[in-house]
Amino acid sequence: MSKDYRVLLFYKYQTIEDPEAFCQEHLAFAKSIGLKGRVLVGTEGINGTVSGTIEQTEKYKEYVHSLPGFEDLWFKEDEADDYAHKKLFVRRREEIVALNLEDDIDPHTTTGQYLSPKEFRDAILDEDTIVLDTRNDYEYDLGHFKGAIRPDIRNFRELPQWVLDNKEKFMEKRVVVYCTGGIRCEKFSGWMLREGFKDVGQLHGGIDTYGKDPEVHGDLWEGKMYVFDERIAVPINHVNPTVIGKDHFDGTPCERYVNCGNPFCNEQILCSEDNEHKYVRGCCAECRRHPRNRYIVENKLSTEEWEARLNAIGESLKDSATA
Ligand SMILES: [Zn+2]
Repeated sequence: MSKDYRVLLFYKYQTIEDPEAFCQEHLAFAKSIGLKGRVLVGTEGINGTVSGTIEQTEKYKEYVHSLPGFEDLWFKEDEADDYAHKKLFVRRREEIVALNLEDDIDPHTTTGQYLSPKEFRDAILDEDTIVLDTRNDYEYDLGHFKGAIRPDIRNFRELPQWVLDNKEKFMEKRVVVYCTGGIRCEKFSGWMLREGFKDVGQLHGGIDTYGKDPEVHGDLWEGKMYVFDERIAVPINHVNPTVIGKDHFDGTPCERYVNCGNPFCNEQILCSEDNEHKYVRGCCAECRRHPRNRYIVENKLSTEEWEARLNAIGESLKDSATA
């Protein structure tokens, strides 16, 4: 049962006086023990996901807990068969989660009510409560809580505007929000309170914690959870798991994400291996005949072979860009 690798997900809003120096020391340590992953460092704190062997991750946890102000940082852990990241990045950022608010929010002073997994489950079942997903649309499409609202946004920083545009829908109601590990909601729920929303709750520890909770076992979660590492999709619901992801091309159940072959598009689409070959990994006709299509390059398709693939789906390299 027990696997050899661990994936850690963590964050803490905690003032870092000299993020530049913090960043360098952090990188040097993580490198020295062979850890991989991505850690963002700002004056407001740290946000990261890393992976390594049990020994490496234990050393890393010890190191982080030895840093002043980070003694109580909460690591969410997953078992894994291998590293979940290809490289190691430790980067300095203005914001450890990009929300781009004009007036920043300090989650230590303004944040929504923390809800335990059990309380959050009750909120989902309550008809008068609105459940709002604060993640990106492609994350939602792979899996989400039953009945949760899907904001029509491509990026988290567009969320405040979307909420303002749709204010009348939930201004007078109780709103509960959730995200992967909890970090996005800390600020976002605080922002909602500042904007005048009366009753705002947030899932403490995020979906990740909800899936591991011994009481709820991920119940009422549909599909899988999108993660920003090599695993892409991880299971959450251990009660009655379902697949809700749909193949971009034929709508059949699918949980396999690929990036569109056109490097200038790069949109993440769910698609089966068969359809990836059939549609040369292009999200649309324009991307399928794009001269820089990476699928064509990687698979060394000749122009004739490329044209044949397109002909098979009623398209052609000769179609004009506007066709
Ligand atoms: Zn595309």
